[in-house]
Amino acid sequence: MRGIFWPPPAESYVGSLPERADILVIGGGIAGTSLMHHLAKRRFSAVLVEANHIAFGASGRNAGFLLAGVADCYSEAVRIFGREKAREVWHITDENHDRMVEAVAGTAVGHRRLGSATFASGEEEGARLEESAQLLRDDGFQALWDGTRLVNPRDGEINPALLVGALAGRLKEGAIREGVEVTGVVPAGAEVSVRSGESECRAGVVILATNGYTSRLLPQVKIQPTRAQMLASAPVSKTIVDMPTYSHFGYQYWRQLVSGELLIGGWRDTSMETEVGYDDQPTDQIQEHLDRKLAEMSPGAEVTNRWAGIMGFTETGLPLAGPVEGMRNVYTCAGFNGHGMGFAFMSAKRLVEMI
Ligand SMILES: Cc1cc2nc3c(=O)[nH]c(=O)nc-3n(C[C@H](O)[C@H](O)[C@H](O)COP(=O)(O)OP(=O)(O)OC[C@H]3O[C@@H](n4cnc5c(N)ncnc54)[C@H](O)[C@@H]3O)c2cc1C
Repeated sequence: MRGIFWPPPAESYVGSLPERADILVIGGGIAGTSLMHHLAKRRFSAVLVEANHIAFGASGRNAGFLLAGVADCYSEAVRIFGREKAREVWHITDENHDRMVEAVAGTAVGHRRLGSATFASGEEEGARLEESAQLLRDDGFQALWDGTRLVNPRDGEINPALLVGALAGRLKEGAIREGVEVTGVVPAGAEVSVRSGESECRAGVVILATNGYTSRLLPQVKIQPTRAQMLASAPVSKTIVDMPTYSHFGYQYWRQLVSGELLIGGWRDTSMETEVGYDDQPTDQIQEHLDRKLAEMSPGAEVTNRWAGIMGFTETGLPLAGPVEGMRNVYTCAGFNGHGMGFAFMSAKRLVEMI
């Protein structure tokens, strides 16, 4: 049985912690590479350090859904955040899809704008989805409720590891340093002292793009590390899924690649207490649910890969893209609540504009 389904980006960028940096970005996932993209566009001098290799974290392990909005459906988002905020978030995430794909135009990253579907688990969810479709249309967005599923036609899918590799591949030589694990971040006068073991970097600005791992470095930043698990099947010749699909309030999701493999993930809600923390290994408990779903979708299909990754959840349900309280010149671009592919590119853009 193999582990993570997506092969890591082909390029390697092994390096060391620089002694000085105008801007130091920590973390080489979609958030870190998006930050570097926007910083380069504004001609800032920046270096990204990554403990392992780019796309090592959730960005190289996710389902590759490009969805607009937060994890909750639109009607629920309106209830939680208010109409105006919910509309703004939908708009930003919709734009995230366009701008992110534009940024890697010309490189094959497995992008398809197939739309997304959300099935109702029961009457309650059905009512919320139907209401969501109406509210979305009233707010000028495309959405369709056909009685069984809500379809958002502008959503899509991508190969997340290829996407991160494509963003990284456009940066100038030396901008990414893999194999550098940051062990400490401390403000030092007008600068920030960043340590990796015995090495120190003096940086003007530091941005933590460490999502689920952020509280390991800065425990005061309230981002809860939360595990998500997936499996992949061997290619199935029949088309079983027409677009990235969600169900059970976002706790269950599946898609089928153009090459036929079925990717199935989620079921965290069946064991919330065990799916918290930094352990990124799959468990039998959750994988049994994924197996059952695969058997239902394609009886006899062989499982080839099982894996897990760490997401970062915030108290508000929205990302933390801004300054860290009490730490001059230190920022976070993290806490994507399981939707970083839909949020990170524009969160990074906004943070860079703020800096
Ligand atoms: C199984 C699964 C399925 C998912 N499906 C989807 C989906 O379909 N659509 C979607 O939008 N989102 C999905 N998500 C969530 C999405 O993957 C994340 O929101 C997103 O990848 C976060 O990106 P990031 O760059 O902020 O963090 P990460 O990709 O986790 O990157 C953080 C990086 O920081 C590095 N790092 C951490 N600590 C240090 C340190 N001290 N020093 C140096 N480097 C460090 C890590 O090695 C890691 O590479 C899923 C997540 C999982 C796990």
